[in-house]
Amino acid sequence: MQAPFASLVAPEPVGASVRLRVLSLGAGVQSTTLALMATHGEIRPMPDCAIFADTGWEPPAVYRHLAWLMAPGVLAFPVHVVSAGNIRDDLLAEARGRRRASIPAYTRTAVPAGKERPLFPKPDDRIVGLRRSSDGEDSIGMIHRHCTADYKVVPIRRKVRELTGIAGWRSPSWPVAEQWIGISLDELVRIKPSMEDWQVNRWPLVERRMTRRDCLRWLERHGYPEPPKSACIGCPFHSDAAWRRLRDEEPEAWADAVLVDRAIRTGFRGIRGTLYLHRSAVPLELADLSDGADPGQLDLWPNECEGLCGV
Ligand code: SF4
Repeated sequence: MQAPFASLVAPEPVGASVRLRVLSLGAGVQSTTLALMATHGEIRPMPDCAIFADTGWEPPAVYRHLAWLMAPGVLAFPVHVVSAGNIRDDLLAEARGRRRASIPAYTRTAVPAGKERPLFPKPDDRIVGLRRSSDGEDSIGMIHRHCTADYKVVPIRRKVRELTGIAGWRSPSWPVAEQWIGISLDELVRIKPSMEDWQVNRWPLVERRMTRRDCLRWLERHGYPEPPKSACIGCPFHSDAAWRRLRDEEPEAWADAVLVDRAIRTGFRGIRGTLYLHRSAVPLELADLSDGADPGQLDLWPNECEGLCGV
């Protein structure tokens, strides 16, 4: 396993044992900047490839941006697209009681009358982090999430193992792959070392003390378009600003999020409450998305600690 935080942002050279340098491409602002900076020779050595893990439910703007990145002459290295299935379809299947595709959806559970400590005991084992609804009548929690692992971490790891020639259950106990992750300085909390002996993680934007704003400035300086926010259409980590953008700029994607939000209300195994995509735990089309409702544009992305979504 990789060393603790202090040594992470200036990683020890792993030298000749590394057979593959791979950039985890989310097709958002940070990973796009990382890929283009590497192409410009501003981050070295050049990665061998990038890998985009497709959940099948990114907004059209992300797929358009990905297509541009993959066009000849844009990046200096190939982009592999991998997938572990379509998260939207799997979510709808889970709402019908089949398989698990847990996203960090919000639960609303009625507080039993007369309970002095209405948040406890936890109503369901699959729920993490409880709070009271604004009217105090219900408790609101979040489903324990494994979507990033299932739809991003696992398919990327499978591809890296294939490209480095690691077969079967036996893996080298030394680093043979280096994974670049597009976390920026303002998202430092998302840094997480590799759990695999055969792979080290690297965060070149953090090494260069670059924030998301610095990335946008770099892209503008070099005449590149601003990338869209990369995340599943119905990701419950969206801020109200992101939901508004979806509603106002991608009406079809917004309609799809509303449809899925309605479809997941009940049916998840082991959940007694009702489920929602918006953090206020009300139907998405009724959620207050105004600035006043979310003055700080609550950023929930630090909860996505792998740093593979939203960058
Ligand atoms: S973007 Fe959100 S819903 Fe999609 S995989 Fe990441 S955390 Fe899960």
